[in-house]
Amino acid sequence: MALVNCRVCGSRVSEDADPCPVCGNKDIIGAKSKSRLLKKVFGVSVAIVALSYLWFVQIPELREKGIFPKTHQK
Ligand SMILES: [Zn+2]
Repeated sequence: MALVNCRVCGSRVSEDADPCPVCGNKDIIGAKSKSRLLKKVFGVSVAIVALSYLWFVQIPELREKGIFPKTHQK
């Protein structure tokens, strides 16, 4: 929990204060929502890459080795 300057009134307030206890500004550091969105997008991208790697690389390898069960045999 870091202290930041409110971009409206300049008070030193907690980064997590919402709204600012001094002036009531709801977006204290301005870029807060943007950086959180970027972190979310980055996290989702990493998850998609990891899942793709697992699906296209690891599972075929495991199936070849007979470790992963072959579920689509019809
Ligand atoms: Zn303020």
